[in-house]
Amino acid sequence: MKALVLEEKGRLNLREIELNEVLSPTDVKIKIHTVGICGSDVHYYTHGGIGTFIVKAPMVLGHEAAGTVVEVGSAVKKFKVGDRVCMEPGIPNFESNETLTGVYNLDPEIKFWATPPYHGVLRPLVIHPAALTFKLPDNVSFAEGAMIEPVSVGMHSVVKARPVIGDIAVVIGAGTIGMVTALCAIAGGCSRVIILDVVDEKLKLAETLGPITGVNSKNSNPISRVKELTNGVGANIVFECSGNEKAASTAVDLLAPGGTIVHVGIPLSPISYDVSKAISKEIRVENVFRYRNVYPRAINLIASGKLNLKPLITDDFTFEDSIKAFDFAVKMPAKSVKVQIQFPQ
Ligand code: ZN
Repeated sequence: MKALVLEEKGRLNLREIELNEVLSPTDVKIKIHTVGICGSDVHYYTHGGIGTFIVKAPMVLGHEAAGTVVEVGSAVKKFKVGDRVCMEPGIPNFESNETLTGVYNLDPEIKFWATPPYHGVLRPLVIHPAALTFKLPDNVSFAEGAMIEPVSVGMHSVVKARPVIGDIAVVIGAGTIGMVTALCAIAGGCSRVIILDVVDEKLKLAETLGPITGVNSKNSNPISRVKELTNGVGANIVFECSGNEKAASTAVDLLAPGGTIVHVGIPLSPISYDVSKAISKEIRVENVFRYRNVYPRAINLIASGKLNLKPLITDDFTFEDSIKAFDFAVKMPAKSVKVQIQFPQ
């Protein structure tokens, strides 16, 4: 079938590729409707790898997807042809130690779409386990369905942070993950989010989404601004979503005593921070790798209207224009957040 293939670093092709997927009794076949472009897709395109994941063979990109069920495996009971769905992109070994101990996202054998060597879903059809496929309610669009993947990162981050109702959170980084994490923090009980970034357009957009205060960390000192905005106390939770080493290392200073830092963004090189300061404040540290067990609840939140993702879906392209979409996402205008690709139906 025709797919968007990353041949090697810097070279994309929209071309035929043989994928040889077979529908097992527990699978469904899905006709893809919408796929979001993730920062990781762009990074594979521009850098040919992320950390230890290196693109060594042509790979289909895309892992944020929604579509329609077109075929159902013989043992699948919860779907029928025509169901609108979104899909969780990581397929663990269902018998691994990690899966059986409840942390399937940490299974080293997980097959995650568009993470080498596994193909992604920028193609018209995919076969996927029914267990990792989720029905979309009528009032949740395909575009929102394709946003559930990044939203799940925010949901998992908030689940691990365990906010107390009324808490004030800081989110470092106003990219897609920062924005959805801010929205999830509010949905999870935070009274206010202070979001830090260096791009004013992103901060302005964030402020339209809810009780969110943008702080430009280039033009002001974020530590003193957060103090001012929290009556001198500091934040209860810091979600570090930038991966920026310097920003990540200052998180302890943004927190109130007893606060929690959640590392979401992956720094390119090791970070360090003042552990004695963290000890004197009894800072709790949580680390988040993708997500687990959150898709159904993310869908519920969107369907309820408590999580409005529409302002974050800023640009879309047709599948035929996929390469254009990626070149657009590489330059990413300051006003853009999520770029999506729509398939002909
Ligand atoms: Zn993603």
